[in-house]
Amino acid sequence: MADSIDPVAKRAPSFWSPRIADLEPYVPGEQPRIRDLVKLNTNENPYPPSPRAIQAIREAAENGLELYPDPTSLALREAVARRHGLAVEQVFAGNGSDEVLAHAFFAFFQQREPLLMPDISYSFYRVYAQLYGIACEQLPVDEDLRIDVAATADRAREGCAGVVVANPNAPTGIGLPLARIEELLRACPERVVLVDEAYVDFGAESALPLIPHHANLLVVQTLSKSRSLAGLRVGFACGQSHLIDALVRVKDSFNSYPLDRLASAGAVAALEDEDWFRKTRDDVVDTREGLVLQLEDLGFEVLPSQTNFVFARHPSRDAAELAAALRERAVLVRHFRQPRIAQYLRISIGTRAQCSVLVERLREILQAQ
Ligand code: PMP
Repeated sequence: MADSIDPVAKRAPSFWSPRIADLEPYVPGEQPRIRDLVKLNTNENPYPPSPRAIQAIREAAENGLELYPDPTSLALREAVARRHGLAVEQVFAGNGSDEVLAHAFFAFFQQREPLLMPDISYSFYRVYAQLYGIACEQLPVDEDLRIDVAATADRAREGCAGVVVANPNAPTGIGLPLARIEELLRACPERVVLVDEAYVDFGAESALPLIPHHANLLVVQTLSKSRSLAGLRVGFACGQSHLIDALVRVKDSFNSYPLDRLASAGAVAALEDEDWFRKTRDDVVDTREGLVLQLEDLGFEVLPSQTNFVFARHPSRDAAELAAALRERAVLVRHFRQPRIAQYLRISIGTRAQCSVLVERLREILQAQ
């Protein structure tokens, strides 16, 4: 195939920098164009963003696109600071939380010791570590797939580059209480503990109130999930100003304008529309609770979720086969071919109608054979 597209493509790797061939890039969930697809594979919000966000984006599109945006994203950082009772100097904004995470890895975790993370977590962490040559040490989650905080804190006390955890964790959906996050923060006061709160709004406790008490805490959040703005690419980090200064140094050595005018305007309006946020978030949480019961009725074991997805396995059916059978019926869920979790499906919470279709298709599949 490659020959017909690009006859000399085979020679391309010789142009690559030596480390590029060894990279194992992150593989995002697929975004196929299938009609009437029930898409429950990438943890998007099934509801649209706040109408005020759409209106603000329209207005921004009509005013000033010929000019560069504010390189400091001040309006957005002020909106985040207002909502969370922080100073604007304690907020950093980026092009999706993935970019913010990447900058944080570059800024804080390039140390002599390894970076600590759970063995089951957001797989992008290992990709950033590899990109920046950061050694990782993965600490096994326990048999219930919960993060082993005591073991992580013990290991951190021996010396590490820092700790990264998603809270709630992905793809398990299980959250840690704040006291456990504090245990990690106290275990390595000289290194950054990065808490990735991509899903926190769906039922977990945010570590943001701990910021004044811990110089080593960096909290990262996104507008992709609870604010329904995955398509806009907006994420932010909060921490004491010395941490934010480091992120700004990385940003300004990479791309001074990560947030465009449309993204800033839409994000500010979305952050200010508390009613829309609460209503859509509560709908997702209610739907999740209903879906858990229906999946359990079908024989699935479902981990306790504090997110907009559930992680579930069927004791007698292979997860890869279930995912493939669902796909044939135009329902997409995520399956990870990874040790320890290969028998689980990660199912994003859709609308009630989408979840009903999922349950019906699963019933058909389980009844056949
Ligand atoms: N952290 C976690 C745990 C995630 O699952 C995701 C979404 N894939 C992200 C961060 C990145 O989100 P975004 O770049 O859309 O802000």
